[in-house]
Amino acid sequence: DTQTLSESQEVLQDNFDSTVFVWSKQKGISPIAVKYAQGVYLYDYDGKRYIDFSSGLMNVNIGHGNQRITEAVVRQMQEVSYVTPYCVTKVRGELGKKMAEICPGDLNKAYFTLCGATSIEAALKMARSYTGRHKILSRYQSYHGATYGALSVGGDPRKLPDDSQQSPNFVHIDIPYRYRWNHDEASMLTDSVEQLERIISYEGPGNIAAFLLEGESGTSGCLQYPVGYLKAVREICDKYGILLIIDEVMSGFGRTGKWFGFENHGIVPDMVTMAKGITSGYLPFGCLMVTDKIAARYNDTVLATGMTYNAHPVGCAAALETLKIYEDDNLIENAAEMGRYVAEQAELMKTKHSCIGDFRTTGLLGCFEIVKNRNTKEPMAPFNAKPEEMAVMSKVGAKIKELGMYTFVRWSYVFVAPPLIVTKEQIDEGLAIISEALTIADAYVE
Ligand code: PLP
Repeated sequence: DTQTLSESQEVLQDNFDSTVFVWSKQKGISPIAVKYAQGVYLYDYDGKRYIDFSSGLMNVNIGHGNQRITEAVVRQMQEVSYVTPYCVTKVRGELGKKMAEICPGDLNKAYFTLCGATSIEAALKMARSYTGRHKILSRYQSYHGATYGALSVGGDPRKLPDDSQQSPNFVHIDIPYRYRWNHDEASMLTDSVEQLERIISYEGPGNIAAFLLEGESGTSGCLQYPVGYLKAVREICDKYGILLIIDEVMSGFGRTGKWFGFENHGIVPDMVTMAKGITSGYLPFGCLMVTDKIAARYNDTVLATGMTYNAHPVGCAAALETLKIYEDDNLIENAAEMGRYVAEQAELMKTKHSCIGDFRTTGLLGCFEIVKNRNTKEPMAPFNAKPEEMAVMSKVGAKIKELGMYTFVRWSYVFVAPPLIVTKEQIDEGLAIISEALTIADAYVE
C-alpha cells in the first residue's frame, strides 16, 4: 500500500508504536500531534490551529512560547544546571523569598518539589509527622494527583477501576453541590459544617492530622464551596488542632483572578501545595509552602523526606521568571476581568442552548454543565460515566476538536480555562466553537 501519511499521522504512528498514554485505553484515542504552540494556540504538523481553552492541563497560565522563560532557563543551565538539594543556589533562595512575598500570613517557607503529586505527598507526610496523627480528611469529587498518597486522598473516580491502589487512613467527606442542592444557601452552609463536625467526632479528632481541600475545585467540575464554608473549616480545624492544607495546584497562580484560590475565601491555610502555574508548565516543578511555625518544628527534628530533584535550579529559574511575568503583564487582573466576560457570555449562551444546565467560573477556572433536562437537571452523562454513556458528550468533544479547539470534555462538563493572557476576541472565538458543538447536545434534550 503506497498511501502516504500526513506529517501528523506519521508522528502519531511513532507515538502509538513506542509510547504509552495516560489515563486511557491505548486504542481508539486520537491525540493532537502538536508541532508548535504560541500564545493561546496549538498547531499540528498539518498546519491546523487549535485554540487552547484548557491551558494544557490548566497549567500554561502565561500562554505558550514565552521566550522570557526560555532565556531564563538557558541562562541558568549555562551557570549551573544541577546541584543536589543539600547545596544551595542563588535562584533557590530568590524564589523562596518571592514565594513568601506572594503568600499571605506566615506562609514563609518553601519546599520545592517536582509536580503536584510530589507537593501533596510532602504535605501529607509533614502533616502526619508534625501532628503525630494518622488520618487525613478530604473531599469526594476532588483530584490531588496519581501517586499513592495523592490518589488515595483524592476523591476522583478515576481511581475506582483499580481500587486496590489506595492507601489506608484517608477519610472522605461530601460537600453540597450548589447547582444540585434543593435548599437555600444558608442551610447548605449549616448542613455541610454540621456534617464535617460529625465526621470528625466519628473518626476521633485526636486521630486527624489534616483536612486537605482544593482552593477552588477544578477537574471535578468547578464545584464552588458554600459561601463561608472555608472560613468555617478554618475555625473547626483550629478547634481540633487539625492542619488545613489547601491544594492550589490547579487554582493557584492567577487562575481564579487572585494569586491563590483560597484568597477568594478570606482564609490563610497552614500549608499550601502548588505546581502547574508556578512554572506555567514550561518545566515540571512544584512547591509546598508551610508556615513559620510548622517549619520551625524541623529546626531540631529531622525532616524525613527528599528527592534527587528537590529545588532543581533550572526549575527554580523557570518559576522565578514565570512569577515576574504574572506581575509585569498584569495577568492576574486580566484573569479576573476575562473571567467576568466569560461569565456574561456564558449567560447569553444559556438562552440559545437548552442543554446548558449551569455555567460556573471563578476567574478563568470554569465549565459548562450539560443536562438532558433543565427541570430534572439530569446530566447528559452520569458522574463517572462509562464510555457508552458518553455517546453524546463524546460527539460534542469531537466537534469541538474538529472546529479547532483543545479543551476538556469530561462527563457532562465542558471546561473553559484558557491561558490568562486571553483576550475578549479569543474568548468569543472559543465560545463560538463551544456554542456550535453544543447544538449537538441540544438535540438530545428531553
Ligand atoms: N492537585 C490538583 C488540584 C490537581 O488538579 C492536580 C492535577 O491535575 C494535581 C494535584 C496533581 O498534579 P500533578 O499531575 O502535577 O502531579
